[in-house]
Amino acid sequence: MARKIYDAIVVGTGAGGGMAIKTLCEAGLKVLALNPGRRVDPAKDFRGHKQRYDMRYRGFGDPKTVRYHDEREYTEGLWEHDVTYTTSPGTQWEWLRVKVTGGKANFWGRSSARFADIDFKAASLDGFDVDWPVTYEEIAPYYSRVEKWIGVASTVQNRPSNPDGEYLPPMKLRCIDYILRKGAEKVGTPYVEDRIAQLTVPHNGHLACHYCANCSSGCDTGSFFSPPWFTLPDAEKTGNFELRTNAIAKNVLVDSNGRAKGVAYVDRNTRQEVEVYGRAVVLAASCLETAKIMLNSKSRHWPTGIANSSGELGRNLCDHLYGTSAYGYLPQLLGQPSRPDNVSASTVVWMPRWQNLKSPHEEKFIRGYSVYPGGGCGEFPYYYRRLEGFGSRFKRDIKRYYPAPVSFTIQAPSLPSKDNYLDIDPEVKDIFGIPALRFHFQWRTNERLRRGLKSCRG
Ligand SMILES: Cc1cc2nc3c(=O)[nH]c(=O)nc-3n(C[C@H](O)[C@H](O)[C@H](O)COP(=O)(O)OP(=O)(O)OC[C@H]3O[C@@H](n4cnc5c(N)ncnc54)[C@H](O)[C@@H]3O)c2cc1C
Ligand code: SF4
Repeated sequence: MARKIYDAIVVGTGAGGGMAIKTLCEAGLKVLALNPGRRVDPAKDFRGHKQRYDMRYRGFGDPKTVRYHDEREYTEGLWEHDVTYTTSPGTQWEWLRVKVTGGKANFWGRSSARFADIDFKAASLDGFDVDWPVTYEEIAPYYSRVEKWIGVASTVQNRPSNPDGEYLPPMKLRCIDYILRKGAEKVGTPYVEDRIAQLTVPHNGHLACHYCANCSSGCDTGSFFSPPWFTLPDAEKTGNFELRTNAIAKNVLVDSNGRAKGVAYVDRNTRQEVEVYGRAVVLAASCLETAKIMLNSKSRHWPTGIANSSGELGRNLCDHLYGTSAYGYLPQLLGQPSRPDNVSASTVVWMPRWQNLKSPHEEKFIRGYSVYPGGGCGEFPYYYRRLEGFGSRFKRDIKRYYPAPVSFTIQAPSLPSKDNYLDIDPEVKDIFGIPALRFHFQWRTNERLRRGLKSCRG
């Protein structure tokens, strides 16, 4: 039987893969997409509107099976658990992965800021690393195109460090924001609406947000950008899209000239290896898994992995630092009536994209961070852990504190370093027989100087 050759094979159906699939299908190409898990079914899988008391583990999930800090009972069965990887001595790494269609973009924070010239030309400003080979001016029209299509809510803020885009009306501020904004104004720092890919009005056939605050468990009305609601249905409408589920890409196949000609994948259910062929191969299996597939794509032409003639593949592993830098209560809100104003996390940002522009600087570190103020009347009173007591007094306190908690979470990028990298562990394979990734990562001085920050999202 003649083997089928697709115009393109796209590995992964998340933020990147979904956009490639839609664009190629709409351009008339026949596209095969490989996804390592099943299709997500938003109506069944996103159970944000279930009450905690209806869930077996009160929404937290079975402690024996929950694996990641972002995982909970509401998203049971959607995160990837069959992950094998190793770490070199001293490395701590939590590699989060989502196996269903849409990947991590089902649960992402929706924060959609543009890079500015201070990012593209950071090396010229502070002398570290190299500038990007593109300028803000060149890339701005693409930002506009995506923003207009997916729908991003924000305000025009006229701050060149965080350029404005094409926005839907902003999210409403929470009660705490009015109070905190006054304080920020006093110290002369911006306290503004984040750029958030969440629909404040109906947009391009998608329903507006109903402010249930369940975004991190997936949206059952498709009111923020995610591939199962946006890119994949558009691709399906063209009739050019074929999806193969439970297909775990293992390596890229090459022709006699070393050019990509297809992909070998392992079927999750049968554990059999299958080959598929295409005129082009797009790898969009998320940053780290894509590097793993490429490192595992060894051939006569590519002895250290496909497209790795420079030896840079897997190098300069970076992470985001996160940390809750402060937590407390706004006394003026203690005992006040509660309002359903916790629309979802991260809709507001304090000091967005704060950045040291010159080095050496009095702050002693280069580059910057953003601060996300948390709070508002959430569904679940997480602050209960910080309150003392029991019985009726404890219950009264829970109510009294309900509108008042506030926290500040810092998000900052790490700097690239040649000593932080990925390679393939020569000794270890996963349960599908695929050689495992090995992480080598240490926080470096520049990160340590931003004290109190920790953790990662892979
Ligand atoms: C909780 C959370 C909050 C976040 N918040 C933000 C935010 O506010 N703003 C922001 O910009 N980013 C945010 N991110 C990051 C953002 O979600 C990712 O950067 C983005 O989804 C990456 O897109 P991707 O296409 O590379 O990977 P993904 O969206 O993860 O998609 C990868 C796809 O590849 C598939 N895949 C994986 N391995 C294989 C394989 N071997 N074979 C075949 N397919 C494979 C996956 O199943 C998935 O379909 C957040 C991430 C998380 C987890
Ligand atoms: S808050 Fe809005 S976007 Fe988030 S899950 Fe609810 S309806 Fe969807």
